[in-house]
Amino acid sequence: MNCPICNQPMEIWQTMITHSKEGKQFDHKRFVCKKDDVWARLEIPLEASPQAQQQSSQA
Ligand SMILES: [Zn+2]
Repeated sequence: MNCPICNQPMEIWQTMITHSKEGKQFDHKRFVCKKDDVWARLEIPLEASPQAQQQSSQA
């Protein structure tokens, strides 16, 4: 994900698993461009996220 201001790749600030009201799990990422103070949020459904599927075996 690129910053909309400087168009540089944004740093991943935080990753976590979140739950929707329906109980669906999301691989949640927050991105930041510290220089421009731009924040972005990305939520990928866990079943569609290749990297999160290994973690989901505990659920
Ligand atoms: Zn930027």
